[in-house]
Amino acid sequence: MAFIVTSSCIQCKFGDCIEVCPVDCFYQGPNMLVINPDECIDCALCEPECPVNAILSEDEVPDAERALIGLNAELSKIWPNVTQKCDPHPEAEQYRHVKDKLKLLQR
Ligand code: SF4
Ligand code: SF4
Repeated sequence: MAFIVTSSCIQCKFGDCIEVCPVDCFYQGPNMLVINPDECIDCALCEPECPVNAILSEDEVPDAERALIGLNAELSKIWPNVTQKCDPHPEAEQYRHVKDKLKLLQR
C-alpha cells in the first residue's frame, strides 16, 4: 500500500519530504507534489517530514481526500521526477492552514 500526498500540500510544496525517499518517487507539479504509488515501497520515512501533515498512508486517507489517491497515480505519470528539495511555493506560509485546497490544484 502506497503513501499519498493529500491536498494540504497544494500551494505549500515545502519539499521536506523529497530527499528522505529511498526510491525517489516524488513528482512535482506547479503547486503540489505527488507520489507514484507503483514506485513507493511503503517505508513511511516521508510521512513525519511534512510540516503540514500532507502525507498519509493510503488506508488512512479520509473520505474527503479519496480523490487524491487517483490523482497521485495519474499526475505522477505526467509530472517530472524530483529528487532534491525544491523551493516552497512562494505563498506557502499563507496557505499552510487553508482547508479545501483541491480547487487550487494546477496541473
Ligand atoms: S513536505 Fe509536505 S507540503 Fe512539502 S512537498 Fe512534501 S508533501 Fe508537500
Ligand atoms: S513512503 Fe517511503 S517510498 Fe513511499 S514516498 Fe514516502 S519515502 Fe518514498
